[in-house]
Amino acid sequence: MGKKGRYAKQKDRRKKIASERISILMELADKEAISGKLDRASRYGYLARKIGKKYNVRLPGTFKHKYCKHCGTYRVPSRNTRVRISRGHITTHCLECGDIYRRPYIVNGNRSIKESELNGQ
Ligand SMILES: [Zn+2]
Repeated sequence: MGKKGRYAKQKDRRKKIASERISILMELADKEAISGKLDRASRYGYLARKIGKKYNVRLPGTFKHKYCKHCGTYRVPSRNTRVRISRGHITTHCLECGDIYRRPYIVNGNRSIKESELNGQ
């Protein structure tokens, strides 16, 4: 054992191509979102997710925050997403499907920031 069989090698190559495709789709999505074509951006995100699932490839960390977990919409704060910071959490409210997503606000390893820092005092 130790040596990878033909099948395993092929799988590695497929995974590499899949992750390349995902990053291309992500770039395209960003471009479309900037030019205001949100449905296209969402569609690219959907395709990237589909490729990730099919080839068992992890999506980049930034992907998670760019798309709504529930409806898959490309998130643009102020346009289709409301973002608020409260009690050390970033709350993202999707205006398309109403889904609320919270994640901790981490600054330089500190798990939460004080409210006085938020107010600039
Ligand atoms: Zn949503």
